[in-house]
Amino acid sequence: MRLSRYFLPILKETPREAEIVSHRLMLRAGMIRQQGAGSFSWLPLGKRVLEKVNGIVREEQDRAGAQEILMPTIQSADLWMESGRYDDYGKEMLRIVDRHERQMLYGPTNEEMVTDIFRSYVRSYKDLPLNLYHIQWKFRDEVRPRFGVMRSREFLMKDAYSFDLDFEGAKAAYNRMFVAYLRTFSRMGLQAIPMRADTGPIGGDLSHEFIILASTGESEVFCHKDFLKFEVPGADVDFADDAEIAGIVEAWTTPYAATDEMHDEAAWTAIAEGEKVSARGIEVGHIFHFGTKYSKPMNATVTGPDGKEHFVSMGSYGIGPSRLLAAIIEASHDENGIIWPESVAPFDAVLINMKAGDEACDQACETLYEQLQAAGKDVLYDDTDARAGGKFATADLIGVPWQVIVGPRGVAGGEAEIKNRATGARETLPLEAVVNRLN
Ligand code: ATP
Ligand code: MG
Ligand code: MG
Ligand code: MG
Repeated sequence: MRLSRYFLPILKETPREAEIVSHRLMLRAGMIRQQGAGSFSWLPLGKRVLEKVNGIVREEQDRAGAQEILMPTIQSADLWMESGRYDDYGKEMLRIVDRHERQMLYGPTNEEMVTDIFRSYVRSYKDLPLNLYHIQWKFRDEVRPRFGVMRSREFLMKDAYSFDLDFEGAKAAYNRMFVAYLRTFSRMGLQAIPMRADTGPIGGDLSHEFIILASTGESEVFCHKDFLKFEVPGADVDFADDAEIAGIVEAWTTPYAATDEMHDEAAWTAIAEGEKVSARGIEVGHIFHFGTKYSKPMNATVTGPDGKEHFVSMGSYGIGPSRLLAAIIEASHDENGIIWPESVAPFDAVLINMKAGDEACDQACETLYEQLQAAGKDVLYDDTDARAGGKFATADLIGVPWQVIVGPRGVAGGEAEIKNRATGARETLPLEAVVNRLN
């Protein structure tokens, strides 16, 4: 992509309405545009990162055995009346009436709709386990939308729903999602800690929020410092092996970790002072077992091996990709801008032509641009005639992992400079060596 053709509306001024660093940087880097209270457009740079995040979420959901579908954003209120949640949900739900006076709503979540899909087709325990997910926009009329895409009204959610014959099966499904979440966040360069969360009237201990520690987080959280050095399971983890997966969950749920609603002062006091981490956190994911809460009122059953009908045991598993972008920036930035982990970066490298219009520089850059693309790299080529200082500032602000810098003096000696955004380390090398160095 040539920067001269790229829609990248960088802001010079720091937007005054933005209270936290991720919101400021996303606006300044031209990633998002606010359209109304808690509502944002995704501009090309932001959309690229969002798709990278979705890609990782999708790969890890698929690896854990979930299957992607896509359900509508607008739902019929009838389904919610069946489950009894239409009245309970309250003001966070945006209610809509169509031209035939039918009650509709913009989905804040999809338990009812996916249960309806399930009950329409699945009849036997032999078709279980089943886990269906989608990545779709949600609307919640938040009392206080703020912090940009961190708490917006319209936001993207990956929501998965598992269906099993009994609690044992549902627990194994829960464990698979637990491990998939550990891998998902870690691949984005985030340290997410699973913390016990409230299960409300359903009870039990099968609900965890995945929390990123950050001073701007909205929740107060408490955990053992052991979590900070835990190793996340590798890509070779066997999701078909229930015992292996349960072992990982066991290890990750043994040290103390809870959000303020679940905080247990007695257990907390028992931990040695130097081993406690009490901090603020951002909820980036939430997994929840709720058994027959929806299958019963909505009559979603399968025939069991005993020949009888059983209400399926269900769970739901959410991740907020749009919130994740903000969380990643909160965790990875400096005074000059964003520092994207390579896995989610909008481009692999930015190629900076320090003197566009200079024949030798243009020539060297065109060659590098072609070579890098041929090597499969996503490159933003800064071919504009802006000053070198401005180009460096833009490259730092948008946080692309590598900068390839081509100036007249270097080119005369057949050299370019590369800079790593995260470490600041610079290296001069022959023009021909650049592609291999970035591979
Ligand atoms: P919160 O406690 O922050 O209000 P929640 O518990 O209501 O979130 P869930 O219903 O558990 O959210 O939804 C699953 C995920 O969707 C959350 O873990 C979060 O990542 C994301 N999410 C929820 N609400 C928002 C929002 N208003 N803006 C952006 N992402 C959100
Ligand atoms: Mg909420
Ligand atoms: Mg919450
Ligand atoms: Mg939650």
